[in-house]
Amino acid sequence: MDIEALATGILAGERRALARAITLVESGRADHRQSAMALIERLNAADHGRQAMRIGLSGTPGVGKSTFIESFGMMLTGQGLKVAVLAVDPSSARSGGSILGDKTRMEHLSREKNAFIRPSPSQSHLGGVARRTREAIGLCEAAGFDVVLVETVGVGQSETVVAEMTDLFLLLLAPAGGDELQGVKRGIMEMADIILINKADGELKSQAVRTCADYAGALRLLRKRPQDPEGFPKALTVSAVEETGLAKAWEEMQSLTEWRREAGHFEARRAGQARYWFEAEVREGLLARLKREPVKGALERMALEVEAGEVTPAAAADTLLRDYLGG
Ligand code: GDP
Repeated sequence: MDIEALATGILAGERRALARAITLVESGRADHRQSAMALIERLNAADHGRQAMRIGLSGTPGVGKSTFIESFGMMLTGQGLKVAVLAVDPSSARSGGSILGDKTRMEHLSREKNAFIRPSPSQSHLGGVARRTREAIGLCEAAGFDVVLVETVGVGQSETVVAEMTDLFLLLLAPAGGDELQGVKRGIMEMADIILINKADGELKSQAVRTCADYAGALRLLRKRPQDPEGFPKALTVSAVEETGLAKAWEEMQSLTEWRREAGHFEARRAGQARYWFEAEVREGLLARLKREPVKGALERMALEVEAGEVTPAAAADTLLRDYLGG
Protein backbone atom coordinates (compact mmCIF):
# COMPACT_ATOMS: atom_id res chain seq x y z
CA MET A 1 0.00 0.00 0.00
CA ASP A 2 1.57 3.27 -1.15
CA ILE A 3 0.31 5.62 1.55
CA GLU A 4 2.30 8.55 0.20
CA ALA A 5 0.74 8.28 -3.27
CA LEU A 6 -2.71 7.89 -1.78
CA ALA A 7 -2.24 10.97 0.41
CA THR A 8 -0.98 13.00 -2.54
CA GLY A 9 -3.98 11.92 -4.61
CA ILE A 10 -6.43 12.86 -1.86
CA LEU A 11 -4.82 16.24 -1.28
CA ALA A 12 -5.06 16.85 -5.03
CA GLY A 13 -8.80 16.15 -4.75
CA GLU A 14 -8.75 12.98 -6.86
CA ARG A 15 -11.95 11.01 -6.42
CA ARG A 16 -10.33 7.69 -7.23
CA ALA A 17 -7.78 8.15 -4.46
CA LEU A 18 -10.57 9.17 -2.09
CA ALA A 19 -12.63 6.10 -2.98
CA ARG A 20 -9.63 3.81 -2.44
CA ALA A 21 -8.84 5.45 0.88
CA ILE A 22 -12.41 4.96 2.10
CA THR A 23 -12.22 1.30 1.10
CA LEU A 24 -9.07 1.13 3.19
CA VAL A 25 -10.68 2.63 6.32
CA GLU A 26 -13.64 0.28 5.88
CA SER A 27 -11.47 -2.81 5.92
CA GLY A 28 -11.38 -4.95 9.02
CA ARG A 29 -7.96 -6.43 8.23
CA ALA A 30 -5.30 -5.58 10.80
CA ASP A 31 -2.69 -4.55 8.21
CA HIS A 32 -5.25 -2.36 6.44
CA ARG A 33 -6.11 -0.78 9.77
CA GLN A 34 -2.44 0.12 10.28
CA SER A 35 -2.26 1.61 6.76
CA ALA A 36 -5.50 3.54 7.30
CA MET A 37 -4.15 5.04 10.51
CA ALA A 38 -0.86 5.93 8.81
CA LEU A 39 -2.79 7.62 5.99
CA ILE A 40 -4.92 9.64 8.38
CA GLU A 41 -1.80 10.69 10.30
CA ARG A 42 -0.11 11.65 7.06
CA LEU A 43 -3.08 13.81 6.00
CA ASN A 44 -3.20 15.47 9.41
CA ALA A 45 0.50 16.24 9.17
CA ALA A 46 -0.10 17.91 5.78
CA ASP A 47 -1.90 20.61 7.75
CA HIS A 48 -4.15 21.38 4.79
CA GLY A 49 -6.41 23.60 6.87
CA ARG A 50 -9.48 22.53 4.90
CA GLN A 51 -12.75 22.42 6.75
CA ALA A 52 -16.01 21.20 5.29
CA MET A 53 -19.45 21.93 6.62
CA ARG A 54 -20.49 18.54 7.98
CA ILE A 55 -24.24 18.14 7.77
CA GLY A 56 -26.20 15.21 9.24
CA LEU A 57 -29.51 14.38 7.59
CA SER A 58 -32.04 12.03 9.06
CA GLY A 59 -35.51 10.93 8.07
CA THR A 60 -37.65 7.82 7.77
CA PRO A 61 -37.74 5.93 4.46
CA GLY A 62 -39.99 7.64 1.91
CA VAL A 63 -39.72 11.12 3.40
CA GLY A 64 -37.58 12.21 0.46
CA LYS A 65 -33.96 12.05 1.65
CA SER A 66 -32.44 10.98 -1.64
CA THR A 67 -34.60 13.40 -3.63
CA PHE A 68 -33.57 16.17 -1.24
CA ILE A 69 -29.88 15.29 -1.43
CA GLU A 70 -30.08 15.19 -5.20
CA SER A 71 -31.71 18.66 -5.48
CA PHE A 72 -29.79 20.25 -2.63
CA GLY A 73 -26.51 18.73 -3.81
CA MET A 74 -27.10 19.93 -7.37
CA MET A 75 -27.85 23.42 -6.09
CA LEU A 76 -24.55 23.47 -4.18
CA THR A 77 -22.44 22.07 -7.01
CA GLY A 78 -24.15 24.67 -9.23
CA GLN A 79 -22.62 27.28 -6.92
CA GLY A 80 -19.20 25.74 -7.50
CA LEU A 81 -19.10 23.85 -4.20
CA LYS A 82 -17.78 20.30 -3.85
CA VAL A 83 -20.28 17.98 -2.18
CA ALA A 84 -19.70 14.54 -0.65
CA VAL A 85 -22.52 12.23 0.46
CA LEU A 86 -21.90 9.46 2.98
CA ALA A 87 -24.36 7.19 4.75
CA VAL A 88 -24.73 5.54 8.13
CA ASP A 89 -26.94 2.48 7.92
CA PRO A 90 -26.09 -0.37 10.26
CA SER A 91 -28.94 -2.44 8.85
CA SER A 92 -27.33 -2.66 5.42
CA ALA A 93 -25.34 -5.76 6.40
CA ARG A 94 -28.54 -7.61 7.18
CA SER A 95 -30.57 -6.47 4.21
CA GLY A 96 -27.64 -7.23 1.91
CA GLY A 97 -27.66 -3.81 0.33
CA SER A 98 -27.77 -0.25 1.44
CA ILE A 99 -30.84 1.86 0.90
CA LEU A 100 -28.81 4.93 1.72
CA GLY A 101 -26.25 6.73 -0.36
CA ASP A 102 -27.22 4.63 -3.35
CA LYS A 103 -26.12 6.31 -6.55
CA THR A 104 -29.14 5.22 -8.52
CA ARG A 105 -31.22 7.26 -6.08
CA MET A 106 -29.22 10.38 -6.96
CA GLU A 107 -28.84 10.06 -10.65
CA HIS A 108 -27.81 13.58 -11.58
CA LEU A 109 -25.65 14.24 -8.56
CA SER A 110 -23.74 11.01 -9.05
CA ARG A 111 -22.69 12.24 -12.50
CA GLU A 112 -21.50 15.62 -11.22
CA LYS A 113 -17.75 15.98 -11.23
CA ASN A 114 -17.88 18.02 -8.02
CA ALA A 115 -19.88 15.39 -6.17
CA PHE A 116 -18.84 12.19 -4.46
CA ILE A 117 -21.38 9.63 -3.25
CA ARG A 118 -20.57 6.66 -1.10
CA PRO A 119 -23.10 4.12 0.21
CA SER A 120 -23.05 2.82 3.76
CA PRO A 121 -20.47 0.09 4.36
CA SER A 122 -21.93 -3.31 5.07
CA GLN A 123 -20.91 -3.83 8.65
CA SER A 124 -23.15 -5.43 11.14
CA HIS A 125 -22.58 -3.14 14.07
CA LEU A 126 -23.08 0.57 14.38
CA GLY A 127 -19.62 1.01 15.91
CA GLY A 128 -17.92 -0.23 12.75
CA VAL A 129 -20.07 1.89 10.46
CA ALA A 130 -19.53 4.90 12.70
CA ARG A 131 -15.75 4.61 12.69
CA ARG A 132 -15.63 4.26 8.92
CA THR A 133 -17.94 7.21 8.35
CA ARG A 134 -16.13 9.44 10.79
CA GLU A 135 -12.81 8.70 9.14
CA ALA A 136 -14.33 9.06 5.67
CA ILE A 137 -15.55 12.55 6.61
CA GLY A 138 -11.96 13.49 7.43
CA LEU A 139 -10.76 12.09 4.11
CA CYS A 140 -13.42 14.07 2.18
CA GLU A 141 -12.36 17.17 4.04
CA ALA A 142 -8.72 16.60 3.14
CA ALA A 143 -9.79 16.12 -0.48
CA GLY A 144 -11.22 19.63 -0.43
CA PHE A 145 -14.94 18.97 -0.21
CA ASP A 146 -16.88 22.00 1.00
CA VAL A 147 -19.95 20.15 2.23
CA VAL A 148 -20.15 16.60 3.57
CA LEU A 149 -23.69 15.30 3.93
CA VAL A 150 -24.12 12.28 6.17
CA GLU A 151 -27.42 10.54 5.57
CA THR A 152 -29.07 8.23 8.06
CA VAL A 153 -32.37 6.52 8.50
CA GLY A 154 -34.65 7.66 11.29
CA VAL A 155 -34.44 4.59 13.45
CA GLY A 156 -32.67 3.72 16.67
CA GLN A 157 -29.26 4.96 17.61
CA SER A 158 -27.86 5.98 14.28
CA GLU A 159 -28.99 9.60 14.68
CA THR A 160 -26.98 10.03 17.84
CA VAL A 161 -23.94 8.66 16.09
CA VAL A 162 -24.38 10.98 13.12
CA ALA A 163 -24.97 13.99 15.36
CA GLU A 164 -21.65 13.18 17.06
CA MET A 165 -19.77 13.51 13.78
CA THR A 166 -21.47 16.50 12.16
CA ASP A 167 -21.58 20.26 12.70
CA LEU A 168 -25.28 20.55 12.19
CA PHE A 169 -28.18 18.17 12.08
CA LEU A 170 -31.18 18.29 9.77
CA LEU A 171 -34.36 16.34 10.34
CA LEU A 172 -36.43 15.76 7.23
CA LEU A 173 -40.15 15.17 7.77
CA ALA A 174 -43.20 14.72 5.57
CA PRO A 175 -46.41 16.74 5.97
CA ALA A 176 -48.45 15.16 8.77
CA GLY A 177 -51.93 13.86 8.18
CA GLY A 178 -53.68 14.95 11.33
CA ASP A 179 -52.57 17.31 14.02
CA GLU A 180 -50.20 14.82 15.62
CA LEU A 181 -46.45 15.39 15.50
CA GLN A 182 -45.87 12.07 13.70
CA GLY A 183 -44.53 10.41 16.80
CA VAL A 184 -41.10 11.96 16.30
CA LYS A 185 -39.17 11.09 19.40
CA ARG A 186 -38.37 14.00 21.60
CA GLY A 187 -34.70 13.02 21.74
CA ILE A 188 -34.42 13.18 17.98
CA MET A 189 -36.20 16.51 17.82
CA GLU A 190 -33.80 17.85 20.43
CA MET A 191 -30.89 16.92 18.20
CA ALA A 192 -32.19 18.87 15.22
CA ASP A 193 -30.82 22.29 14.32
CA ILE A 194 -33.24 22.68 11.44
CA ILE A 195 -36.39 20.66 10.77
CA LEU A 196 -37.32 20.54 7.10
CA ILE A 197 -40.88 19.66 6.16
CA ASN A 198 -40.49 18.21 2.68
CA LYS A 199 -43.09 17.80 -0.07
CA ALA A 200 -44.42 21.33 0.34
CA ASP A 201 -45.86 21.30 -3.14
CA GLY A 202 -49.13 20.61 -4.97
CA GLU A 203 -51.86 19.16 -2.83
CA LEU A 204 -49.53 18.64 0.10
CA LYS A 205 -48.46 22.24 0.34
CA SER A 206 -51.03 23.58 2.82
CA GLN A 207 -50.59 20.50 4.96
CA ALA A 208 -46.82 21.05 4.92
CA VAL A 209 -47.22 24.66 6.01
CA ARG A 210 -49.44 23.56 8.90
CA THR A 211 -47.04 20.80 9.93
CA CYS A 212 -44.20 23.31 9.81
CA ALA A 213 -46.08 25.67 12.14
CA ASP A 214 -46.75 22.78 14.53
CA TYR A 215 -43.08 21.91 14.70
CA ALA A 216 -42.04 25.51 15.02
CA GLY A 217 -44.31 25.65 18.07
CA ALA A 218 -42.91 22.42 19.48
CA LEU A 219 -39.34 23.63 19.01
CA ARG A 220 -40.07 26.82 20.93
CA LEU A 221 -41.03 24.69 23.91
CA LEU A 222 -37.66 22.96 24.02
CA ARG A 223 -35.03 24.09 26.47
CA LYS A 224 -32.76 26.69 24.90
CA ARG A 225 -29.32 25.33 24.05
CA PRO A 226 -26.24 27.55 24.36
CA GLN A 227 -25.16 26.72 20.81
CA ASP A 228 -28.28 28.28 19.31
CA PRO A 229 -28.68 31.89 18.26
CA GLU A 230 -32.08 33.57 18.44
CA GLY A 231 -34.68 31.70 16.40
CA PHE A 232 -32.91 28.31 16.36
CA PRO A 233 -33.66 25.45 16.12
CA LYS A 234 -36.17 26.25 13.42
CA ALA A 235 -38.61 24.57 11.08
CA LEU A 236 -38.86 25.34 7.34
CA THR A 237 -40.79 23.94 4.41
CA VAL A 238 -39.05 22.66 1.28
CA SER A 239 -39.94 20.77 -1.85
CA ALA A 240 -37.15 18.54 -3.04
CA VAL A 241 -39.07 17.83 -6.24
CA GLU A 242 -39.88 21.43 -7.11
CA GLU A 243 -36.59 22.61 -5.63
CA THR A 244 -38.21 25.31 -3.55
CA GLY A 245 -37.04 26.40 -0.13
CA LEU A 246 -33.62 24.86 -0.69
CA ALA A 247 -31.77 28.16 -1.10
CA LYS A 248 -33.44 29.49 2.05
CA ALA A 249 -32.50 26.33 3.96
CA TRP A 250 -28.89 26.67 2.82
CA GLU A 251 -28.86 30.32 3.90
CA GLU A 252 -30.06 29.31 7.35
CA MET A 253 -27.40 26.61 7.61
CA GLN A 254 -24.71 29.09 6.68
CA SER A 255 -25.85 31.79 9.07
CA LEU A 256 -26.15 29.28 11.91
CA THR A 257 -22.66 27.97 11.21
CA GLU A 258 -21.24 31.46 10.97
CA TRP A 259 -22.79 32.43 14.30
CA ARG A 260 -21.45 29.29 15.96
CA ARG A 261 -17.99 29.90 14.59
CA GLU A 262 -17.91 33.42 15.93
CA ALA A 263 -19.28 32.37 19.30
CA GLY A 264 -16.74 29.54 19.58
CA HIS A 265 -19.39 26.79 19.57
CA PHE A 266 -18.25 25.33 16.27
CA GLU A 267 -14.75 24.48 17.46
CA ALA A 268 -16.04 23.46 20.88
CA ARG A 269 -18.41 20.97 19.31
CA ARG A 270 -15.67 19.43 17.19
CA ALA A 271 -13.40 19.22 20.22
CA GLY A 272 -16.16 17.52 22.22
CA GLN A 273 -16.70 15.09 19.37
CA ALA A 274 -13.00 14.26 19.22
CA ARG A 275 -13.14 13.42 22.92
CA TYR A 276 -16.31 11.34 22.43
CA TRP A 277 -14.73 9.24 19.66
CA PHE A 278 -11.49 8.82 21.56
CA GLU A 279 -13.41 7.40 24.50
CA ALA A 280 -15.52 5.23 22.20
CA GLU A 281 -12.37 3.80 20.59
CA VAL A 282 -10.86 3.03 23.98
CA ARG A 283 -14.05 1.26 25.07
CA GLU A 284 -14.20 -0.76 21.88
CA GLY A 285 -10.53 -1.62 22.11
CA LEU A 286 -10.98 -2.89 25.66
CA LEU A 287 -14.01 -4.95 24.68
CA ALA A 288 -12.07 -6.42 21.77
CA ARG A 289 -9.25 -7.43 24.13
CA LEU A 290 -11.75 -9.19 26.38
CA LYS A 291 -12.71 -11.35 23.43
CA ARG A 292 -9.10 -12.23 22.54
CA GLU A 293 -6.64 -14.60 24.17
CA PRO A 294 -5.23 -14.71 26.74
CA VAL A 295 -7.94 -12.59 28.39
CA LYS A 296 -10.77 -14.62 26.91
CA GLY A 297 -9.44 -17.89 28.40
CA ALA A 298 -8.73 -16.31 31.76
CA LEU A 299 -12.19 -14.81 31.83
CA GLU A 300 -13.78 -18.19 31.17
CA ARG A 301 -11.59 -19.92 33.79
CA MET A 302 -12.41 -17.35 36.43
CA ALA A 303 -16.10 -17.40 35.54
CA LEU A 304 -16.12 -21.09 36.39
CA GLU A 305 -14.41 -20.38 39.72
CA VAL A 306 -17.01 -17.71 40.43
CA GLU A 307 -19.80 -20.13 39.58
CA ALA A 308 -18.30 -22.73 41.87
CA GLY A 309 -18.23 -20.20 44.69
CA GLU A 310 -14.44 -20.42 44.97
CA VAL A 311 -14.01 -16.69 44.56
CA THR A 312 -16.35 -13.72 44.77
CA PRO A 313 -17.35 -11.90 41.55
CA ALA A 314 -15.73 -8.67 42.71
CA ALA A 315 -12.44 -10.29 43.68
CA ALA A 316 -12.29 -12.26 40.43
CA ALA A 317 -12.93 -9.12 38.36
CA ASP A 318 -10.27 -7.28 40.30
CA THR A 319 -7.71 -10.03 39.66
CA LEU A 320 -8.56 -10.26 35.98
CA LEU A 321 -8.27 -6.51 35.42
CA ARG A 322 -4.98 -6.31 37.31
CA ASP A 323 -3.34 -9.35 35.73
CA TYR A 324 -4.46 -8.91 32.15
CA LEU A 325 -5.49 -5.34 31.55
CA GLY A 326 -3.01 -3.59 33.82
CA GLY A 327 -5.78 -2.02 35.88
P1 GDP B 1 -36.11 8.43 0.95
O1 GDP B 1 -36.51 7.01 1.16
O2 GDP B 1 -36.21 9.22 2.20
O3 GDP B 1 -34.77 8.57 0.30
O4 GDP B 1 -37.20 9.08 -0.04
P2 GDP B 1 -37.14 9.29 -1.62
O5 GDP B 1 -36.27 10.44 -1.95
O6 GDP B 1 -36.84 8.00 -2.30
O7 GDP B 1 -38.64 9.75 -1.92
C1 GDP B 1 -39.74 8.94 -1.60
C2 GDP B 1 -40.92 9.35 -2.47
O8 GDP B 1 -41.32 10.68 -2.14
C3 GDP B 1 -40.60 9.34 -3.95
O9 GDP B 1 -41.72 8.86 -4.67
C4 GDP B 1 -40.35 10.78 -4.27
O10 GDP B 1 -40.64 11.11 -5.60
C5 GDP B 1 -41.30 11.49 -3.32
N1 GDP B 1 -40.81 12.83 -2.98
C6 GDP B 1 -39.58 13.16 -2.56
N2 GDP B 1 -39.47 14.49 -2.39
C7 GDP B 1 -40.68 15.02 -2.73
C8 GDP B 1 -41.20 16.34 -2.76
O11 GDP B 1 -40.53 17.34 -2.49
N3 GDP B 1 -42.51 16.47 -3.14
C9 GDP B 1 -43.29 15.42 -3.50
N4 GDP B 1 -44.54 15.65 -3.85
N5 GDP B 1 -42.81 14.15 -3.46
C10 GDP B 1 -41.54 13.95 -3.10
